[in-house]
Amino acid sequence: MDNALPCIRNYIAGELATPRARAALLDNVNPASGQVYSQLVDSTDEDLQAAVAAAQSALPGWRAMDIAARARHLEKVADLIERDLDRFAAAECEDNGKPLALARAVDIPRAVDNFRFFARAITQFASESHAMGERAINYTLRAPLGIVGCISPWNLPLYLFTWKIAPALAAGNCVIAKPSEVTPKTAALLAETCIEAGLPAGVLNILHGRGSGIGNAIVTHPDIKAISFTGGTATGARIAAQAAPQFKKLSLELGGKNPTLVFADCDWDKTLDGVLRSAFANQGQICLCGSRIYVERSIYADFKAALLQRISQLRIGDPLTDVDQGALVSAAHMHKVLGAIETARAEGGEILCGGQQRQVDGRCNGGFFVEPTLIEGLPLDSQTNQQEIFGPVATIQPFEGEEQALQLANGTGYGLAASVWSENLSRSHRIAGRLDFGIVWVNCWLQRDLRTPFGGMKNSGVGREGGWEALRFFTEPKNVCIDFG
Ligand code: NDP
Repeated sequence: MDNALPCIRNYIAGELATPRARAALLDNVNPASGQVYSQLVDSTDEDLQAAVAAAQSALPGWRAMDIAARARHLEKVADLIERDLDRFAAAECEDNGKPLALARAVDIPRAVDNFRFFARAITQFASESHAMGERAINYTLRAPLGIVGCISPWNLPLYLFTWKIAPALAAGNCVIAKPSEVTPKTAALLAETCIEAGLPAGVLNILHGRGSGIGNAIVTHPDIKAISFTGGTATGARIAAQAAPQFKKLSLELGGKNPTLVFADCDWDKTLDGVLRSAFANQGQICLCGSRIYVERSIYADFKAALLQRISQLRIGDPLTDVDQGALVSAAHMHKVLGAIETARAEGGEILCGGQQRQVDGRCNGGFFVEPTLIEGLPLDSQTNQQEIFGPVATIQPFEGEEQALQLANGTGYGLAASVWSENLSRSHRIAGRLDFGIVWVNCWLQRDLRTPFGGMKNSGVGREGGWEALRFFTEPKNVCIDFG
C-alpha cells in the first residue's frame, strides 16, 4: 500500500468515510500511462451495513419531501457538476482513457442532463385513474420502493452512474450506488458535489470496491428492494439468479452485438460518418456500438474502401491531446480485445486494418491502446460475429436484399440496438419493425432523447430505462378502487 497516493473514499451518511485501518485498498490505474495514480476502498459488509442504516434513517424525510423541493436538490447537483465540468472531464479521461474532448462534450454534460431531466420529469409524473362508469373509480398510487441499489460499468462512468441515481432519487428512494472499481473517480467527485449541494445525509451513499465483493453484497442485501444494473450479460445473469429468490425488482442493461445495415440508397457521406462513429466511438467501448457492419452488395467494394480510408485517418494517442481514440480501460481489457482479434484470425477472418496494440510514445508509453480494426470474411455463426468484443473491432460483410439483411442482423443472441442507413422511407419503416432490437436508429446512431425507452431484448437485458420507464421502475404501483354505486 503506497500511502503517498490519494485514496478514493466511500460516501456514507452525507460524509466521506475514513477507511477503516485494516481495509484493503485497490489500485487505480491510468489506462493511458499504465501507472497507478490513486487507490480506492474495497468496501466490506460493514460499510454496506453503515450505508443501509444511513439510507433507512434518511428515507422517511426524503420520500415525504415536497416534490418541488426534492427536484431542487437534484437541480443543485446538476448545476454544480456543470460548474465543475472541466474537473469532472479531466477525472473521467484520467480514469477511463477516453479522449478529454469526448468527456467534455458527451460524458459530463450528459450527467448534468440526467439530473436535470429527472428533476423536471418527477414534477410531471402523474398517477393514472380508471373510471368504471358511474359505479366506481380506480386510482394508482406510485410510492418509492425504499432503498435501491445502482451498479454501473466503466465505459461511460458518470454518464451511466447518474442515469440510474437521478431517477431513483427523483422518485423518492434512497440509494446505495457502486461504480466500477476500474473507474471510481467521477463517482468520488459526485460525492463531494452532493455534500456541497446540501443533499440530505444518507439519501445517496456511494460504496467503492469489487463487483464480486461489495457489488454482490448489495445485490443480496434483504433491505435493498431493487437493483438497477448495467454491465456484462454474464454478470447480469448472475445478479438475476441471486436477486430472484428475494423477488427484487430488476432492471438489467447488458451487452450488445449490434448490426449496422447500409443500403445502396443511403446518403453516402452521412452514412460513412455514422458507421465510423458507431463502430469506434469511445474506443468501441459502448454497449450500443455497431460492431457488425452489413453493406448491400452493389456498393460493398466502394463502401469498404471509403470506410478503410476514413479509419486510416483516425488519430489514436494521448487522450489529453486532440485525438479520436484514446486508451482502452485496462490492461486486462486490452488483452481480452487482442485475444478476440486472434480468435478472428484463427476463424479465417481477414484483418483489413489494425489488429494490434498501438505503441504511443512519451507519457503514454505504457498505455493500453489498440488500433481500430476491421475484419472481413467471417460467417454469422463465427465467435467473432456472435460474441461482444467491446473494443475498436468491427466486422464487415455484404448482403443481398432486405430479407438477408434482416436475417444477418437478427442472427445473434443479443438485441440491444441496430442502425439502418437508407433514404428509402418505406424500407426504413419496414426494416425497423422487423428488427429484434430494443433500439433502432435510422440514418443516425446514438441520437438520444431521454424521454424514450432505453434497453435491450434477448440477452441484452430486461426492462427499460429513461423517461417514465425509469420512474415506473423505481416506484411501486398500488391501485385503490372506490365503489360509489
Ligand atoms: P461487468 O458486468 O463486469 O461490471 C459492471 C458492474 O457490475 C461493475 O460495477 C462491476 O464491478 C459490477 N459487478 C461485477 N460483478 C458483480 C456481481 N457479482 N454482483 C454485483 N455487481 C457486480 O461489466 P463491465 O464493467 O466490464 O462493463 C462492460 C459491459 O457492460 C459490456 O458487456 C457492455 O455491453 C455492458 N454495457 C451495457 C450497457 C447497456 O445499457 N445495455 C451500457 C454500457 C455497458 P467491478 O467493475 O468493480 O468488478
